[in-house]
Amino acid sequence: MENTRSASLFENAKKVIPGGVNSPVRACRSVGCDPVFITGASGAKLTDADGKEYVDFVGSWGPMILGHSHPEIVKAVQDAAAQGTSFGAPTPTEIELAQMVVEAVPSIEKVRFVNSGTEATMSAVRLARGYTGKKMVVKFDGCYHGHADSFLVKAGSGVITLGIPGSPGVPDDIVKNTLSIPYNDCETLEKTLRDPALDIACVIVEPVAGNMGCVPPKKEFLEDLRRLTGELGIVLIFDEVITGFRLSYGGAQKYYGITPDMTCLGKIVGGGLPVGAYGGKKEIMDCIAPDGPVYQAGTLSGNPLAMAAGIATLKLLQAPGFYEQLEEKAAEYAGRLADISASTGIAVTLNRVGSIMTGFFTENEVVDFESAMTADTNRYGLHYRQMLSKGIYMAPSQFEVAFISAAQSGDDLEKAIKMTEWSFKKMLE
Ligand code: PLP
Repeated sequence: MENTRSASLFENAKKVIPGGVNSPVRACRSVGCDPVFITGASGAKLTDADGKEYVDFVGSWGPMILGHSHPEIVKAVQDAAAQGTSFGAPTPTEIELAQMVVEAVPSIEKVRFVNSGTEATMSAVRLARGYTGKKMVVKFDGCYHGHADSFLVKAGSGVITLGIPGSPGVPDDIVKNTLSIPYNDCETLEKTLRDPALDIACVIVEPVAGNMGCVPPKKEFLEDLRRLTGELGIVLIFDEVITGFRLSYGGAQKYYGITPDMTCLGKIVGGGLPVGAYGGKKEIMDCIAPDGPVYQAGTLSGNPLAMAAGIATLKLLQAPGFYEQLEEKAAEYAGRLADISASTGIAVTLNRVGSIMTGFFTENEVVDFESAMTADTNRYGLHYRQMLSKGIYMAPSQFEVAFISAAQSGDDLEKAIKMTEWSFKKMLE
């Protein structure tokens, strides 16, 4: 990558932006190379600063389920911008998007828009604590809920441990109120939730984990979560920042038929603009200011451009057969990848739910953080660099998901399959 425009941009970026990036994983350190700088995107393709094109499997980390620069979304944003970019006042468009969200997502009777997934989860937890008058938040090892202090708790390993800060700058006093337990472990879950000493306000979970790579929930895990939290008066929060409007129009909760008390959204609901949302039962949502005492606010919340992009996106997702077609495409793609693993003998455990998937370079079944960590990250790094060199843009970490979008054509996926086969064979040389 020496002597490229991306390389010189990265040098410039590092002088004025920490690590040269505005979000750490973009620096590509875990895959052993420097990032390419993107100057434009259309459909399933990204173009970098050197004019090279890539088939995109990152999709801006999830929002671009319809591909980039979709003409209807671009037009909606342009039309909205022509009317003014921010008013800091109520607008008709925020009601329209709120109505669409309430109609789509089973658990949401009322919704509040914010500017990111982090804001959504942070606000949802504050509200759950305010509503219950309790303190403790239970999360799961390997799940990511944004970068608010309460969530930066080091992943434990199968034991119930009280939180230890996962980052300097997060006081022990804050994370001692966060408990992280293993994903998909029903026994530990029950023991934890029934512990009377714990004063638990809420459980927050990615209904399909996407931030340790794709880890599907065991059926009984989600069922137990719903049953136990209901019985014990604990607020169950689904963090559907990735899965919302992705696994189905009603998200993971509709896909699995399990309805939480509260839901956090982001990514797709903003159509590629900065949006998050949290919502739930009226009884809980009515505790938020100005109706209730729990405070949460935002200068740009419900921003008209973001609302317009969200509305345009959701309308397109309502097309009959949209999710069925995406499922079919993703299933076929995953099947072909599995064939390559079998024919080359390079062990890959392929986890997929709908249009999100991860191929873990391991022979082990991946069901939680501990098993995800058995993946060979060096091998992933090599594969990443080889694929990038051939114009395939994957997530720069083994522990992320690949996003299939409606924009990827048969040819795009065929190219990715061919390059995967080439990359796997090259790794054997
Ligand atoms: N929750 C989940 C499940 C996520 O995947 C993410 C980000 O990837 C977040 C929350 C945080 O969202 P944001 O990056 O918009 O703050």
